[in-house]
Amino acid sequence: MAETPTLYDAFLDELRDAYDAEKQLTKALPKLAKAATSSKLRLAFDTHLDETRNQIGRLEDAFGLLDEKVRGKHCDGIEGIIEEGKSVMEEDFEGETMDACLIASGQRAEHYEMAAYGTLVAWARALGHQDVADLLQKTLDEEKAADQKLSALAEGGINANAAGRVRDEGDVDEPETVAVPRKAAAAGRRPSR
Ligand code: FE
Ligand code: ZN
Ligand code: FE
Repeated sequence: MAETPTLYDAFLDELRDAYDAEKQLTKALPKLAKAATSSKLRLAFDTHLDETRNQIGRLEDAFGLLDEKVRGKHCDGIEGIIEEGKSVMEEDFEGETMDACLIASGQRAEHYEMAAYGTLVAWARALGHQDVADLLQKTLDEEKAADQKLSALAEGGINANAAGRVRDEGDVDEPETVAVPRKAAAAGRRPSR
C-alpha cells in the first residue's frame, strides 16, 4: 500500500496468473482429448497435458528461484478461452468438423500462453533474473511447438476433410502430422514428352 508497485510486482502477478492458467488447462486438455476423433489429435492434446504438468513444475521452480511463495491468481483470460471451447464441444459437430473446432480452441489457448510467456521471459530478463528467463523460455518454446503441431494436424488433412464432409464417414483419411509438400513432389516429376 505504502509503496508504488514496481515492474517486479507486475511480473509476480503475471507469474501467478500463468500458474493458475496452467492449472486450469490441466483440467481442460483431457476434455479436448476426449472430444477428438482423430487419434493423432487426441495424442497431441494428451502430450500437451504432460507438458503442461511440467510447466507447472517449472513455474514452481521460478517462484523458488525468486524466493517467493508458490501462489496462483485467477486467470480470467484462459477461463474465457476454456469457456468458449466448452461451448464448441456442446455443438453437434461431428468427426473432422469437431476436430477442426477443437484445434481452433486449443490454438487460442496456446496463443494466449505464448503472449503471457513472451512477456514473462522479457520481464525476467529486464529485471536481471536470467535463470528464471531461461526456465520460462523452455515453456514458451513448448507452447510454440504445441501450436505448430496443431496447425500441422489441421492443414495436414483435418480441415480439408472437414470442408469436404459429404463422403462416407468410413473413408475419411487420418491426417498426416506433416503436410505432404505436393508442389515439391510434382516439380520433381517431369512429363515424359
Ligand atoms: Fe502451458
Ligand atoms: Zn490471465
Ligand atoms: Fe499450452
